[in-house]
Amino acid sequence: ERLSAHERSLIERRERLLGPAYRLFYERPLHTVRGEGVWLFDDQGRRYLDAYNNVASVGHCHPRVVSAISRQAAQLNTHTRYLQEGILDYAEQLLGTFPDYLERVMFTCTGSEANDLALRIARHHTGGTGVIITRFAYHGVTGDLAELSPSLGAGIRLPAHARTVLAPDAYRLGADQVAATLAADVRAAIDDLRAQGIRPAALLLDGIFSSDGVFPGPAGFLAEAVALAQAEGLLYIADEVQSGFARTGDAFWGFERHGVRPDLVTLGKPMGNGQPIAGLVGRAEVVDGFGRNLRYFNTFGGNPVSCAAGQAVLDVIRDEELQARARETGRYLLQGLGRLQQRHALIGDVRGAGLFLGVELVKDRASQAPAAAETRRVVNAMRERGVLISAAGPLENILKIRPLLAFEREHADLLLETLDAALDEVGAP
Ligand code: PMP
Repeated sequence: ERLSAHERSLIERRERLLGPAYRLFYERPLHTVRGEGVWLFDDQGRRYLDAYNNVASVGHCHPRVVSAISRQAAQLNTHTRYLQEGILDYAEQLLGTFPDYLERVMFTCTGSEANDLALRIARHHTGGTGVIITRFAYHGVTGDLAELSPSLGAGIRLPAHARTVLAPDAYRLGADQVAATLAADVRAAIDDLRAQGIRPAALLLDGIFSSDGVFPGPAGFLAEAVALAQAEGLLYIADEVQSGFARTGDAFWGFERHGVRPDLVTLGKPMGNGQPIAGLVGRAEVVDGFGRNLRYFNTFGGNPVSCAAGQAVLDVIRDEELQARARETGRYLLQGLGRLQQRHALIGDVRGAGLFLGVELVKDRASQAPAAAETRRVVNAMRERGVLISAAGPLENILKIRPLLAFEREHADLLLETLDAALDEVGAP
């Protein structure tokens, strides 16, 4: 379908005002004006099922979050250099969602800042600079983190202190090879850094390897690589910006599925349901060493309005039992995707943990050749049919399905029916 004159003018103004670094989703960009629950609405009043948003995770404009934000905004919004209860109550409850050995929390505004701070802390603690990441990682937009985010584009050149390891791709490696391959790669990366005279500081991994192509399992595959890195004196930074806050269903935090003990955990995206709040949680010994030598002040980080939003999000996840919902709806979706795999030759693999799912499209199952163009067409066909998803992986041939935690079975059914139809449309010879 063609763009309206108004849509064309919005696109033209964006390009003129914002410049070309911003990218719109979809061949026909979506003009959103309102969100409610699992739905987004365009300017014509048409609704779209949001199966992609990992920020408004408890539901677009959730009334409890909205009222917590507006109440606090009407009362006080300052910074962390005055005594206040809100930040402490929230810190206690947030820490309560982690294993006991993680005792400190620090607040930032974005996931990038959280990773940036975690890296600074890890370097301070270890005296090293080297960082190990996956080959198509995304960790953020600061100078340090963008260099450690090869998925940003061909313009990224890895710094001398970085080493990459293969993503834990169970589909191509075979489920039984993932753990050992990752551990061997980490071993080689550590050895190579040392051979170049670079002391390794951190193993930095996304808990679900989202930009690499969504690799949730088999659960436990991280354990060997993490244990090895920690034994070698590296800190393990679990980037939970995508996989945190009950998303993976079986656990509140993605790393818990792997039975590992991160030294630092970074948080963001769904933390305030859209209000900018992010941060890190870490071992006291690690966080305190940094804090004894350096002051940290983040003007907006941990402000009372953001903490009120964060508190409301935790309350809603608990009261609406969203972790159990993510587990059950996720399992239901995965089964449904498995049925679609039997009907559609394009689907090479379906995988997921809770409400974080990947559907890998291939040209044929024997060669596993990525079907990138088809994936793009499916994503756009879904959008035309009113369901929002996206694609991940170096070749963008993995449908990335990441619904709101507020998803119900009826929404899962609508998603599956729509995907079935979109695959019929795209897969037809
Ligand atoms: N880490 C991961 C795994 C992410 O997905 C993102 C955001 N896409 C970030 C870090 C950076 O978060 P932010 O955009 O809030 O800076």
